[in-house]
Amino acid sequence: MPNYTVKLTCKREIAEGTMAFYFEKPDGFTYKAGQFARLTLVNPDETDGEGNSRTFSFASAPYEDDLIFATRMRDTAFKRVLKIMEPGTEIRLNAPYGSFTLHDDESVPAVFLTGGIGVTPVRSIILQTLHDHVRHRILVFYSNRKPEDAAFLDELKTSCDRDSNCTFVGTMTRMEASGREWHGETGVISKAMLFKYMNDLKLPIYYLDGPPAMVGAMRQILSEAGVDANRIRTEEFSGY
Ligand SMILES: Cc1cc2nc3c(=O)[nH]c(=O)nc-3n(C[C@H](O)[C@H](O)[C@H](O)COP(=O)(O)OP(=O)(O)OC[C@H]3O[C@@H](n4cnc5c(N)ncnc54)[C@H](O)[C@@H]3O)c2cc1C
Repeated sequence: MPNYTVKLTCKREIAEGTMAFYFEKPDGFTYKAGQFARLTLVNPDETDGEGNSRTFSFASAPYEDDLIFATRMRDTAFKRVLKIMEPGTEIRLNAPYGSFTLHDDESVPAVFLTGGIGVTPVRSIILQTLHDHVRHRILVFYSNRKPEDAAFLDELKTSCDRDSNCTFVGTMTRMEASGREWHGETGVISKAMLFKYMNDLKLPIYYLDGPPAMVGAMRQILSEAGVDANRIRTEEFSGY
């Protein structure tokens, strides 16, 4: 896979404990919405047993000018270095990888079941799909403990609300810990919640991604609902 050197252009906090990092897109570099990259720090001031590289999904959509990655800022050497990185700093990008990309058949609905930082490839796919006016019926179920934790929440909701083919369902599992108002769903994504928004659970292709425990729980719900395993696509963020 090709290697590129890319420059950080800016960084910002996008949810509690979660930051987005924007990098210049190298000339001629292309990727598909939903794919991922291997990022490597160049001569970092510190390192640890996990080394200087991490895998991140593109949170950016391919039509956007920058490459965007978003991550939970845990206290590891890699993320400490990333957090204080100055705009203009170069890192190595090895990409694109992966096949967690939208199916071609527009007559088959796409249902995204995601939570927490698993939202990154979902943002990429949804924004690109809406931008391209692709006509798939799309449902996005996005679970977090509270709105403060939910990266890209308002952007995804607003983008979906503008397109009648797209339905966004946010759900919060610990609203008692929140200081914000919330008018969406509460509780974990469940079979009952899916049935509230969908008549036929067996027709769509499902996209499950995020920490392995969440992907496992979602797969279990779909299996109990009789969804064929061939209709389920997953991307597990190992390392969480
Ligand atoms: C295809 C793919 C796409 C991914 N996309 C993304 C993405 O878009 N965004 C993203 O943030 N991550 C993504 N990941 C996960 C990412 O690669 C890292 O593994 C993750 O961010 C953790 O990195 P770290 O530096 O925090 O921990 P590491 O140093 O890599 O942690 C290694 C081990 O220590 C444990 N650990 C470290 N710190 C803590 C802590 N504070 N509390 C508890 N356990 C801890 C971890 O559970 C893990 O077992 C993706 C992974 C894959 C495979």
